[in-house]
Amino acid sequence: MKATVLEVIKENSEVRTLKLNLEQEITFEPGQFITIIYNIENKLVRRAYSISHWAEQPTKTITISLNQAPNGTISPKLYNVKVNDVLELEGAFGVFKLNKSNNPALFLAAGTGVTPLNTMIESEEKRDLTLIYSVRSEDLILFNETLNKQSNLKFIPTVTDNIPESWTGETGRINKELIENNLKENTEIYICGMQEFVRAMITILESLNVQKERIHTERW
Ligand SMILES: Cc1cc2nc3c(=O)[nH]c(=O)nc-3n(C[C@H](O)[C@H](O)[C@H](O)COP(=O)(O)OP(=O)(O)OC[C@H]3O[C@@H](n4cnc5c(N)ncnc54)[C@H](O)[C@@H]3O)c2cc1C
Repeated sequence: MKATVLEVIKENSEVRTLKLNLEQEITFEPGQFITIIYNIENKLVRRAYSISHWAEQPTKTITISLNQAPNGTISPKLYNVKVNDVLELEGAFGVFKLNKSNNPALFLAAGTGVTPLNTMIESEEKRDLTLIYSVRSEDLILFNETLNKQSNLKFIPTVTDNIPESWTGETGRINKELIENNLKENTEIYICGMQEFVRAMITILESLNVQKERIHTERW
């Protein structure tokens, strides 16, 4: 279906959010993605982008948030779209969805991997939620303002590289101690990011004897 770019939001120096007006209404579940389709030299090329904000269902308006992959085929084109540009997309798809239970949920994200988790978090106003979010520098914390305001969310950003003197939060990569301190009985864990990040998080969770059924992942 066609989607018109309604707004391009510069989130920080690396990430833009595109607000899209869809030709038809869709329904989606928190955590799902849409597929953007480009015609490149007469070949259809598809890339997945997680829906980055929750919306009442059904909806004709969705957002995606992306950075530019170095020498990427699609992301630099999509990153540089303008208001009123028309895109082709399909969806929503995906089995990485928030379980409908009242168990506490722990979200582990790095960089733009926070996008599907943000939608999950926005969709739950009462459940006990924790987000541990690793970024290279403070200004790269996506959705910082709204995440800080959500009363049922314990928000733990951790900065790995450019740590300002004023920073009083966590530093360094997400480690075993940080995860262990935020695990409760029956906690469900949702992890999203690049392959290496997801692998590293699973290794930590295995060392903490967390059952596989409680771990949900999306790898880019
Ligand atoms: C289910 C799913 C959801 C996704 N949701 C998002 C999203 O919400 N936001 C988003 O920015 N991307 C998301 N991605 C990644 C996205 O689909 C593309 O892979 C990414 O934009 C690169 O596409 P490209 O054509 O520019 O790069 P390609 O020409 O396909 O080159 C791929 C290279 O870029 C790397 N890469 C992939 N993603 C990134 C990234 N985000 N940053 C840096 N390098 C990357 C790959 O590891 C690979 O080395 C998602 C992927 C999946 C599978």
